[in-house]
Amino acid sequence: MHEMALAQGILDIALRTAAENGAVRVGRIKVLVGQMTQVEPEALKFGFEALAAETIAAGAELDLTAVPLVGRCDDCGQEFTIRGCLFLCPRCQSGEVKIVSGRELRVEYVEVE
Ligand SMILES: [Zn+2]
Repeated sequence: MHEMALAQGILDIALRTAAENGAVRVGRIKVLVGQMTQVEPEALKFGFEALAAETIAAGAELDLTAVPLVGRCDDCGQEFTIRGCLFLCPRCQSGEVKIVSGRELRVEYVEVE
C-alpha cells in the first residue's frame, strides 16, 4: 500500500525531529500533500496511527494540507491551476507546461514536547 510507505516516511521524520530536540512526545505534524500524489488522507492517517502506536508519536495529530496542482507555461510564463488532465496553457494554449507544485508530499513541521 502506497500510503503505508508514506506514513512510515512521515513517522521517521517526526521521530528524528523529536530525538534531535530531546522531546518525549510528538504533538502535531503538518504535512503538505500535493494533489498529484493521489494520496487518500484517511488511509494515510490510518497507516500513520498504526505505525506510530508503539512510539512516542502515538496519538500525534496528522494535519494534512492539500496542495493544488499548479503548472507554469514555458512559452509565456503564465502560472495556473491544472484541472483534470488538461496540461495546456490557458493564455497561449501552449503544451509546454511544467509542474510547479502539487507533486510533493512533504512534512512542513513537527511539533514536539
Ligand atoms: Zn502560455
